[in-house]
Amino acid sequence: MPVNLLDFDAAGLTAFFAERGEKPFRARQVLRWLHRSGVGDFDAMTDIAKSLRETLKASATVTPPAIVADRLSEDGSRKFLFDVGAGNAVESVFIPEDDRGTLCISTQAGCALDCAFCSTGKQGFNRNLTTAEIIGQLWQVNRTLGADPKGDRIISNVVLMGMGEPLANLDNSLVALRLMLDDNAYGLSRRRVTVSTSGIVPAMDRLRDECPVALAVSLHAPDDALRDQLVPINQKYPLRELLAACRRYIERAPRDFITFEYVMLDGVNDSDAHARALLAIARQVPCKYNLIPFNPFPGSPFRRSPTPRIRRFVEILLEGGIVATTRKTRGDDIAAACGQLAGQVEDRTRRTGRRVIDIREAD
Ligand code: SAH
Ligand code: SF4
Repeated sequence: MPVNLLDFDAAGLTAFFAERGEKPFRARQVLRWLHRSGVGDFDAMTDIAKSLRETLKASATVTPPAIVADRLSEDGSRKFLFDVGAGNAVESVFIPEDDRGTLCISTQAGCALDCAFCSTGKQGFNRNLTTAEIIGQLWQVNRTLGADPKGDRIISNVVLMGMGEPLANLDNSLVALRLMLDDNAYGLSRRRVTVSTSGIVPAMDRLRDECPVALAVSLHAPDDALRDQLVPINQKYPLRELLAACRRYIERAPRDFITFEYVMLDGVNDSDAHARALLAIARQVPCKYNLIPFNPFPGSPFRRSPTPRIRRFVEILLEGGIVATTRKTRGDDIAAACGQLAGQVEDRTRRTGRRVIDIREAD
C-alpha cells in the first residue's frame, strides 16, 4: 500500500525519507512543495532528483479527500463537502471577513458526544478522520481559493470547529496542527489556530503540553445540572475539573484568555441569572464569552433566544467587566452555520437508529 504523504508532519516525513536512505532536507523540500506550494504531483517537484521522484511515485501518494460539493452563501461564506469514503462526508466552511479569512474544518465523521443542540451529534458517529483528511481540507480549500492580489494566502485563520470533537481525535489532530504551524507548511501563528472542545479534560492537558494553540471551550451552561443535560461529557468531566483544566491551559496558551462558547437557547440557558453565573465563572478563569445564537435544524426541540434577550445577556456580561461578543450567524442559507454541519454519516453507534442522513445537500 503506498503511503499518503498528507498523513505526515515534518517529523513523519523525515522518518519516511530516512527509511529510504534520504537526508532530512529532502523531507523539508517535499513538505514545502506539498503544503507551501500546494503541489501534489511529484513530477512538478522540479528540485527533486528524477530518481527520487520515481521512488516517490512507486511508494507514495498525495491523496486529499475529494471535494464533492462547493456552495457559496449569500453572505460570502462558502461550504465545501468532502467525500471521506464508505458513505461518509464531512464539511469545511470558509468565512471571509475584512481583516481575515477563516476556515472551519472537521475532525471526525459525526460525533459521539451527543450534545443536545448539535446536528452533528444527532447524526451519530462513524470514525475519526485521518491526518490527511483533516489537513487535506485546508490543502484543498487553499488550492481552490488561491492567493490574493498581493500573493498572500486567503486563509489566515483555521478553527477546528466543524464536525466532530478534535480532542476525541487528538493524535491525528495534533499532526495536522503541527503542519498548520510549520513555517515550511502553512506558517500560521498559534493565535490564528483555534481548537474548540466540549471539554475532554485529559486531552486538554495533552494539547497544552504538545501543541498549545488558541482554545475555545464549549461551555453552554454555568452549572453542572444544566450542563449535564446540554453537554453530556460534563457528567464525566464536571465544571470544577473543566475550569481547573482551563487554568492549567492558560499557563501555556498563546492568548491570556480562554474563549467560552455559549449557545443561546430560548428559555433554557439565557436568563439574567445565567449571565450572572457566567460572571462568577469568569472570576475563576480569565476568559471572554462568545455567544452563538442557536442555529436550528430539523427535528431539534430548541429555539434561538430572541435578539433583545441576547442583547440584555451581553449587557450583563459587559457591565460585569467581561468581554462578550455575539457570533454573527453566517451561512444560514446553506446550512453552514455552527452546529448545522450535517455532512453525511453512517452512524455506527446505532444511537439514532438512522443510517444515512443528509437532509440538506440534495437541492
Ligand atoms: N466538538 C467541538 C467543536 C465542534 S462544534 C465542540 O463542541 O466545541 C463547534 C461549536 O458549535 C461548539 O461550540 C458547539 O457547541 C456549537 N454548536 C453546536 N450545535 C450548535 C447549534 N445548533 N447552534 C449553535 N451552535 C452550535
Ligand atoms: Fe460533538 Fe461538538 Fe456537536 Fe457536542 S457540539 S456533539 S462535541 S460536535
